[in-house]
Amino acid sequence: MSSTVISNIATLVTNDPSLGDASPLGLVRDAAVVIEGDRIVWTGESSKAPATDNRFDAEGRAVLPGFVDSHSHLVFAGDRTEEFNARMSGRPYSAGGIRTTVAATRAATDAQLEANLTRLLAEALRQGTTTFETKSGYGLTTEDEARALRLAARHTDEVTFLGAHIVAPEYAEDPAGYVALVTGEMLDACAPHARWIDVFCEKGAFDGDQARAILTAGRAKGLHPRVHANQLSYGPGVQLAVELDAASADHCTHLTDADVDALANSRTVATLLPGAEFSTRAEWPDARRLLDAGATVALSTDCNPGSSFTSSVPFCIALAVRDMGMTPDEAVWSATAGGARALRRDDVGRIAPGAYADLLLLDAPSHVQLAYRPGVPLVRKVWQKGRRLELRWM
Ligand SMILES: [Zn+2]
Repeated sequence: MSSTVISNIATLVTNDPSLGDASPLGLVRDAAVVIEGDRIVWTGESSKAPATDNRFDAEGRAVLPGFVDSHSHLVFAGDRTEEFNARMSGRPYSAGGIRTTVAATRAATDAQLEANLTRLLAEALRQGTTTFETKSGYGLTTEDEARALRLAARHTDEVTFLGAHIVAPEYAEDPAGYVALVTGEMLDACAPHARWIDVFCEKGAFDGDQARAILTAGRAKGLHPRVHANQLSYGPGVQLAVELDAASADHCTHLTDADVDALANSRTVATLLPGAEFSTRAEWPDARRLLDAGATVALSTDCNPGSSFTSSVPFCIALAVRDMGMTPDEAVWSATAGGARALRRDDVGRIAPGAYADLLLLDAPSHVQLAYRPGVPLVRKVWQKGRRLELRWM
């Protein structure tokens, strides 16, 4: 197995305080990283790096862990440009827009869905995302949901069954019947292809009791819960997520003090998705309030064709710093280590011996420039499981 040192790193973000300056980012200046096979085997100061077979000169740039995007919806067809255009002209967002994508997704072939998924993954990778979670939720029939999960599972281990995205149009008059389908036949068909189960707990989607029934049924089939919670209004989603030990409560835009306390006193991560607030001109989630209370915060894209059609984690970092009260250090931590926590992973999201060699070289001397230079494609090189990728736009 050949080894490679990446040396002459101006700022290395390890996300391991014991390896660096004792801050949460575990920063090392004038650093080096050694990769062997698909893993990190050494980090430290450049001058102390051990001998290796190969050498890559970072030329005074920053290196950080690959982004862990723990929330996306990438198995779909069609787009919703016109809906966005109308909304930006004054029409409020409603969950009903999902039905447009459901119709397009059902009508698409497997090859069309996979081509779209592959294109979006390449786009995300080009911007530094080396681990991503993605969900079903645009099929809403047993066959279409299982198909979405099968396609997603070819590209990632972090696959989430979201049959409970909205009530399928065929069940508009019988939501209880749809919950029975999701917790019965659909779950049986989908569970083998997924690691997680998710529900959109929101007015107009699923209420607290329905969400509890769905997540509990999923858990009985070996899936672990995560919840779309408190996005558009106050509601029971966050409390339910904590009660069921969900890995993550996602959105967390409308929180009571009790919700914040519950998150802070649990291992459920608060995953914030500022692309959604940006694209719907909605109120920002208050990251500062969550962090000050002691909650663990992750930042992800929520990439989907309706409410957040961005695959760019750097864009989300910039928004979180500008508008959600996060420091640049906190935002970078949340988009890497935070995402890993939201997926209950410790082999990604950090640059430490034993972790996967998933890392980014920025065309900048510091990770802070991800927020300081918004909209600029700063990701220059990406390593995924030890392999340096050829980055290209498709
Ligand atoms: Zn979502």
